[in-house]
Amino acid sequence: MGKSYTIALVAHDNCKSDLVEWVAFNKEVLKKHSLVCTGTTGKLVETEINKGVDKNSRKYIRVERLKSGPLGGDQQLGAMISEGNIDMMFFFWDPMSQQPHDVDVKALLRITVLYNIPTACNRATADYLIASSLFEDDTYKPKVYDYQDYITRKI
Ligand code: PGA
Repeated sequence: MGKSYTIALVAHDNCKSDLVEWVAFNKEVLKKHSLVCTGTTGKLVETEINKGVDKNSRKYIRVERLKSGPLGGDQQLGAMISEGNIDMMFFFWDPMSQQPHDVDVKALLRITVLYNIPTACNRATADYLIASSLFEDDTYKPKVYDYQDYITRKI
């Protein structure tokens, strides 16, 4: 059966077509996992992944859609990561445009590093991550840092 992950997918507007194309290519793999997306990305991903499938069919895959990124969706994802509810993230962020929620993007990326969440920020890395032998390896668990030294530091 293999592992079942909760996978976050996010794309900025200029990168959405790229992500949708990537999702189409990796549809059969992604279908085996739970998908969580920011609002607009989620709508596109759900449409793509269910192409040709009736909405009432048991085969229809529902994507959990958070708020749109600029409306707090990135922060919701960050909270899910800090609570241990996201296993990996594919975030096609746009390096060529200013985002109104730039600080949220930065915070989200920080939290993925803090909690050691495998994160792909461009398509090539997304290809490597989803094709990695560790993706299917039931014995592999990313290291969990407990930050006890920080929590118990003397103030
Ligand atoms: P969106 O948000 O999927 O709602 O467009 C993405 C983002 O900008 O973080």
